[in-house]
Amino acid sequence: MQYAFALELARQLNCLEDGREDCNCQNCRWIRENKHPAVMTVSKIDNKTDSSKTVISEEQINNVLDTLVNSSDYHRVFIFCNADIKELSVREKSMYEEYKTTGFTLPQEEINSKIWYPTGINTDCFSSVAANAMLKSIEEPPSNVNFIFLTENKDDLLQTIVSRSQSFGVPDSRYEEYNTEFIKPFFVNYPVFNKERALDFAYALLTYQTDNDLESEYIINCIQYYLTELAKANSQNSNLLRIIFKDIEKTENSKKMLRSYIKEQSVYEDLAFYFAKH
Ligand SMILES: [Zn+2]
Repeated sequence: MQYAFALELARQLNCLEDGREDCNCQNCRWIRENKHPAVMTVSKIDNKTDSSKTVISEEQINNVLDTLVNSSDYHRVFIFCNADIKELSVREKSMYEEYKTTGFTLPQEEINSKIWYPTGINTDCFSSVAANAMLKSIEEPPSNVNFIFLTENKDDLLQTIVSRSQSFGVPDSRYEEYNTEFIKPFFVNYPVFNKERALDFAYALLTYQTDNDLESEYIINCIQYYLTELAKANSQNSNLLRIIFKDIEKTENSKKMLRSYIKEQSVYEDLAFYFAKH
């Protein structure tokens, strides 16, 4: 789930060693236990000092902003999401089981089989009043501060936030189902992408899709998955991250093109030439 991805980013940004998966440094440990002082989940039921129960309040935002006044040795990450404590449906349970395999803990403990469960943020739980209070900080965050907004659909988030953020899709659960072998040869020198091979790349996507009888959206998801993994592996390199996030955004656009019935070949070629322009 997206929430685990956000914690993994926070871990990569704070790891005192090389960010490897089994790292046991203090920062990695604290983030896995979800009690790192600089990694904070902000939802209608997390990190509250007021009595509102249905929204992320202005007071919460002000508390977040207050913590930024002091500098910190940590890389601070604020994860904004919606959350409920509830009995899980069958589908949610399987997501939860999968989440547990990541080694991350949820911000609140299970009570009487009721489980803290994150969902995407939307304008009902994160209104413009609260959001506007932090627009300036989103636009120009202090150094070593990241705000992450988890949402199912960009349209669920205020446009003023989206326009100040890098947005990218995190492919749905079960990452291991995405094959990236057929993409890898083209990304060897990433972000440099051989112009002469742009058409080969488009052709490789189409061939892989046809030979394996796959949906075109699956092909794009494979690329997104590959780029997401690349982002994780390069989380310290902000210049490269910016390129990767832009590329992920472009792949979102490819999906939109596919949904509006633009021919697959054209969509793949458009994507290939976009990469070639790096
Ligand atoms: Zn570490």
